[in-house]
Amino acid sequence: MYCYKCGSELSDSDKFCGNCGAKAQQIDELESRVNHLESAEASRDSGSVGWTVLGFFIPIVGLILFLVWLRSKPNNSNAAGAGCLAGILIWYVLPFVFPIFV
Ligand SMILES: [Zn+2]
Repeated sequence: MYCYKCGSELSDSDKFCGNCGAKAQQIDELESRVNHLESAEASRDSGSVGWTVLGFFIPIVGLILFLVWLRSKPNNSNAAGAGCLAGILIWYVLPFVFPIFV
């Protein structure tokens, strides 16, 4: 590996750069931080079933999330939209189509 500060070559066992004294594991730390951020970013658009459930029980919220996320978070948008549709069907359409369920 190479020193993140001065670029001189380090052996894997080096804890500090022999040239400038920078911490050798800094790059690993940065990489793990970047990976963590990336996975956090991805988890924000995971299309989590939680958004479907939320849209199901509160269809108007699902509809708003669906529209807000349509471009920025397509997976979450789909999840919320699906929940919204299911919620509208169950709470508002079915009782009229099948009054026996009410
Ligand atoms: Zn260095």
